Amino acid sequence: MAFSLETLLDKVAARVILAADELTALDSAIGDADHGLNMRRGFEAVLAEKPVILGKPLGDALKTAGMTLVMKVGGASGPLYGTLFMTLGRELPEEPGLADLARAMEAAVVALKARGKADLNNKTMLDVLGPVAAHLAGGTASFDSVRALAAQSAKATIPMKAIRGRASFLGERSIGHMDPGARSSQIMIEAVCDVLEGRS
Ligand code: ADP
Ligand code: MG
Repeated sequence: MAFSLETLLDKVAARVILAADELTALDSAIGDADHGLNMRRGFEAVLAEKPVILGKPLGDALKTAGMTLVMKVGGASGPLYGTLFMTLGRELPEEPGLADLARAMEAAVVALKARGKADLNNKTMLDVLGPVAAHLAGGTASFDSVRALAAQSAKATIPMKAIRGRASFLGERSIGHMDPGARSSQIMIEAVCDVLEGRS
């Protein structure tokens, strides 16, 4: 996979920042209406740190971005997205191929489950990241199939009852709304696909 880390960070940050209002609206239905604000603050900080991040080898760069997310996103999602980026940083070689990405994503999902004491079908970001990691590991993934699976998986959180996170306080009333973290994960995955595929 030939890609520029700068393009990747720019695109993921831009898409997340663009979606801030939508993510906050989703969080206002089943949480505390801050997911978009949290994510925008975190990715603005990552962009501000680009001079430091881009001076490092890929692994260290992703770890630094992850630490920035932990510190700046806050909430439940900050440590979780931080764990995602830090695990990818630990697992990916300097010039990763698709198989490396699949393995690193699977490791990140394991780390996220442990960090959030959560599992699949709890109505969280894991319901997008988990299926996508498994699909990548299956070895037949295309950019289109990954995008489609991420979108379908985010939608599939709508009928779920939240078992983890703030939305779980609502019990049955969490049913009928898309999980904000599942949607932000979908947005990031779509951005990564677009960059790796060479779409702008
Ligand atoms: P907070 O819930 O603290 O306000 P955010 O609103 O930024 O934090 O993020 C909420 C999102 O975090 C949820 O939509 C869900 O996807 C994710 N989340 C919350 N708790 C967990 C958990 N234990 N495991 C995985 N994801 C979680
Ligand atoms: Mg929230």
